[in-house]
Amino acid sequence: MTRVATADAARVAFVGAGPGEADLITVRGAARLQDADVVLFDSLADPALRQLAPNARWIDVGKRGFTGVAHAPRGGGRENTGQDTINALLVKHAQSGVRVVRLKGGDPSVFGRLEEELEALAAAGIECEVVPGVTAALAAAAATQRPLTRRGAGRSVALTTAMTKTGELVAGRHADTESFYMAGKQLAALSRRLVTAGWPAQTPALVVSRAGWPDQIASEHVVATLGDATVLHSGRPTVVTVGVGAVAVEAAPLVVTDDHALPATPAAATPEPATAAPARATTPTP
Ligand code: SAH
Repeated sequence: MTRVATADAARVAFVGAGPGEADLITVRGAARLQDADVVLFDSLADPALRQLAPNARWIDVGKRGFTGVAHAPRGGGRENTGQDTINALLVKHAQSGVRVVRLKGGDPSVFGRLEEELEALAAAGIECEVVPGVTAALAAAAATQRPLTRRGAGRSVALTTAMTKTGELVAGRHADTESFYMAGKQLAALSRRLVTAGWPAQTPALVVSRAGWPDQIASEHVVATLGDATVLHSGRPTVVTVGVGAVAVEAAPLVVTDDHALPATPAAATPEPATAAPARATTPTP
């Protein structure tokens, strides 16, 4: 059985900041910030989150600001010295007895290097807790009102990074809806890789950048024309949704079932049923 720290025992809380504006953090995440003495945060987090922990010491460990800092590469060619420094800082602050929040963009468990940081804390015997957050693919679905799953047609979702550890672009076909992270700079190449991987060229593809922010942008494409989105989303965190979940939801004709029949005329109205017919005839999922 996996041992999980209770919130009280945990010295370090990994908190998902959500994808954009500060109010997309969870209530629990906000509470952990309020209790924090030290916050190690990434560049993706909204600066407005600082208001939740005005007295904490905020340390920017965003990869951009952190590249090349401290530690020499170990054993020649370790690919990220910044990550080692973050691990060391986490351990150091936790061992000093203060409450530490490690704030990560989106959800900590999705492409957030959480594994390495959990390993470092485990090696030092430090209890921790993970508070989930809204990941970019979900924010993109919400922003565009395109559900990632669809009854019947969309039964699976994959969260995929197009980039390998060595910076190589790869793509496959793993689900009815697939959301690609970290491919914003290589949309034309992603398009070619997706076709090679077996996605039909005309498969719907949706590109959303800065999902969850007031200046979020979404554009519609098909797999073959993904490269057209390059300039529009340039320099912005971008997620690409391919397949069923990229299709716009159309207005559906009102279908009235007997159970929810509307009265023929207002004058003939009876007290039951109190609720109007659903806009779309669907059977509730059990
Ligand atoms: N843990 C984060 C992902 C970090 S990896 C999460 O759960 O969302 C960084 C990648 O996430 C970016 O390259 C981009 O593909 C995606 N991303 C992060 N924030 C985003 C946003 N607001 N809008 C669109 N994509 C975003």
